[in-house]
Formats: sequence, C-alpha cells, structure tokens
Amino acid sequence: EKYQRDDIIKIIKEEGIEFIYLQFTDIFGVMKNVAIPAEEISKALNNEVAFDGSCVDGFVRIEESDMYLRPDLDTFCIYPWGGGFGREARFICDVYNTDGTPFEGDPRYILKKVCNEAKEMGYTMQIGPECEFFLFHTDEKGKPTLITHDDAGYFDLAPIDLGENARRDMVMTLKKMGFEVEASHHEIAPGQHEIDFKFDDALYAADKIMTFKSVVKIVAKNHGLHATFMPKPIAGIPGSGMHINQLLLNDGKNAFYDSEDKLKLSKVAYNYLAGLLKHAKSICAITNPTINSYKRLISGYEAPVYISWSSRNTSPLVRVPMSKENNVRFELRNPDPSCNPYLAIAVILKSGLDGIKNNLTPPKSIDRNINSMDEDYKKDNSIESLPESLYEAVKFLCSDETIKEALGRHVLERFVEAKKIEWEDYNKSISSWEIEKYLTKF
Ligand code: GLN
Ligand code: MG
Ligand code: MG
Ligand code: MG
Repeated sequence: EKYQRDDIIKIIKEEGIEFIYLQFTDIFGVMKNVAIPAEEISKALNNEVAFDGSCVDGFVRIEESDMYLRPDLDTFCIYPWGGGFGREARFICDVYNTDGTPFEGDPRYILKKVCNEAKEMGYTMQIGPECEFFLFHTDEKGKPTLITHDDAGYFDLAPIDLGENARRDMVMTLKKMGFEVEASHHEIAPGQHEIDFKFDDALYAADKIMTFKSVVKIVAKNHGLHATFMPKPIAGIPGSGMHINQLLLNDGKNAFYDSEDKLKLSKVAYNYLAGLLKHAKSICAITNPTINSYKRLISGYEAPVYISWSSRNTSPLVRVPMSKENNVRFELRNPDPSCNPYLAIAVILKSGLDGIKNNLTPPKSIDRNINSMDEDYKKDNSIESLPESLYEAVKFLCSDETIKEALGRHVLERFVEAKKIEWEDYNKSISSWEIEKYLTKF
C-alpha cells in the first residue's frame, strides 16, 4: 500500500488542498465526480460519503438509490493544475450499497472480481494500453470541428504544430500525476495521436485509462483543441483504437514466457490466447461498445476484422509483438477508447482464464494478409470475422455464458438494454450516405 489514512490527511493539510474529488465510473465508461471540501476528508475516509445512485445511468432505480463511496487510498493524486479556488486532489472510489456490500453495478468491482478469480489460479494480470485519439480545432463559439490543420504523419517530428505541443503538455501533466509514459507519437491520420503507458496491474491500468482520458481532454482544451476518443470520427482515414498489451504474472514472473518455444510462449500463454480468440466475438460489445466502433473495424485501416493471431502480420486481432526474452505478451487490437476500461479488461481476462481452465488450443497463426485471401481459403481455414455491427455484437454477448457470468446480471441487463435502445435510435436516423446514394437514384 502506498498511502495510509494519516499520510493522506497530512498531505492534504501540507499541500493546501481545498477540494477533493471522489470519482467512479458508470457502466458506459463515463467518469462521475462527487466534490467535497477538504475539511470533509475524514468523512470520506470513513466511507461515509453518499450519493444518489439513481442519478447515474445504468446504476439503480429511485427506490434503492443511496450508495456509498469508498476511496481507494492508493489512487490519491493531487491535480497538477490549479483550480483557481485552491488546489485539488482526487480519489478513485469503490461503490457500496447501504448495507455495506459492494455494488454489483460498479465496473471497478466487476474487474476486481475477475482479478480475484485469476489470483486464485495464481495469476495477476498486467496491462499496457496504447490509446489513440484525435485533436480537432474548435470554432469561434468553442464548438469542436473536424478540422486538424496538421499534415504530420506517423512518427513525424516536424513541423511542430499545435497538436504536438498539446501532446507534449499531456505527457508532462500525466508524468506529474504519477504516470509512466512508455511512448507518445503522432499516428497515421492527420490530427491523430497516441500515448502508451508502461505495464501496470489490471485494476490500476483501468483507473489510469479513465484518468488519462480526462487529462487529455482538459489539456487539449487549454490549447484551444478538442480531444476525442470517438473510434472513427472521419470516414476514409484510420480510426482510433486502444490496443491492450497483456500478460499474466505468476510469482512475479511472466507466465507467458517459455524459452523453449519457437515464439517464446508458454503453454499457459497458448491456452490464454485460445480463450481470447474463442470469446473474441462476444466481448466485442464491451470492448467496442458504440455504433461508431464498427465503422472502425473494417479493412484497409490497420484495424482488425478477422479472428486471427500472428507474430508477423501487423494487423491481426491478436499480435505477438517482438520482445526481449521474458517480456512476451499479447497485443489485443480490437478494443477502442470508447469502451469502459474496467469492463473491457474484465471480459478480456475472463476469456484468457477460460482458455487456461479448459486447456484450450489456439488455431494456427495466420501470417499472411487475410484481407487479400479469397473467401474459400478463409472458409477452409475457418477464419471468422468479428461482429460487423453493435447489434450483432450484443447478440454474441448474450449467447456467451462465461462472459455473462463475468459481467454479472446487473451490468449485463443494464448494458444490453441501453445498447438495444442505442441501436433502435440509430436505425431511426437517416445518414447523409443514404441521401447521397438513394435520393436521386430512386
Ligand atoms: N489506428 C489503428 C486502429 O484503428 C491502429 C494503428 C496502429 O497503431 N498500428 O487500430
Ligand atoms: Mg502503438
Ligand atoms: Mg497506434
Ligand atoms: Mg499497437
């Protein structure tokens, strides 16, 4: 443990903290905040801060609305920016019911549950996310546009534009907040960027993804830009993914490593990989949870379309990146940054664990470009596709008992209900594509 209760009270006094944010995340991946003045810190640390759960999407109904926040002391963090009214700090919290039991609709609880399952098998999961996003200009009224004004490409250094400066500021701010940034670079599309973090325990990695998204948005705003994690904001250019690098530790050692194997992968690693591929279709609704997510998962933009793995191909669903010795890991490439990171990591881990428990064997790797294969070859090699729409993805989710168990009834029901409404809503809309295609033709 990083902090004790007394340390925190002391730091808050010494640093002149005025406001404390108690944070948690709703089922749909939106961060929620309850602000308290610093004098109320004891109450918060006694887990006595309540909020009305019925105000939070997908949480509870009016009649059962009181919920309590339990700050996770290790997530204490002072904001590096001044609030104008004094300094601010935050905790990420667990959500509890009035009777003191953990709230089943809390995504952080769902992830903890699956992490405990892994722990019972002797494993802890480590995650290294690669988060992509776009920076767009805002108009005179401060509204986001789709304009980037930058022609830089992948890894370009010059010209240093607004976006580059903003990204540098983001990395500096994240570092001040205790992030270890592994890399940050311009992505392929104009205005597109990526920031990667070092490996961390699954739970804290999910916390960091949430913090990351809010920091990126705040810093972008300070630079007069709008940051978006929408998976595919512009047609015809790449979308934004959130590749999840992952491995399991066993007794502090990489359980995926075996020096004897051609790819340096252990039996456990192959089992885990098989689990990931087995559940790939059903976890998509969670890892790619928006209508727009499926506009990214098409061929031609380095986003995965088929359920396959490879150590050579650059855009399969699961990539085995080149790595030093015992640093072997899997990179799952379908998740996008619109997902709820707690739920996404929970279902990913659950898939891998299922592979280990049932001693599953992965299909052989596909080291050729699948997009250029003919349909017969794909069929003969039973290469399947990821779901093509949110609608399809939700259907797969609903038919997978293992993944449903990981999410629990509360989250599953609220999630599926909301996604069905989202789909119906979308179906009621008429896109400009349709108008262009059909208005004059018929
Ligand atoms: N932007 C691509 C995606 O949608 C990934 C590009 C890359 O990092 N190689 O996943
Ligand atoms: Mg990358
Ligand atoms: Mg990238
Ligand atoms: Mg990657």
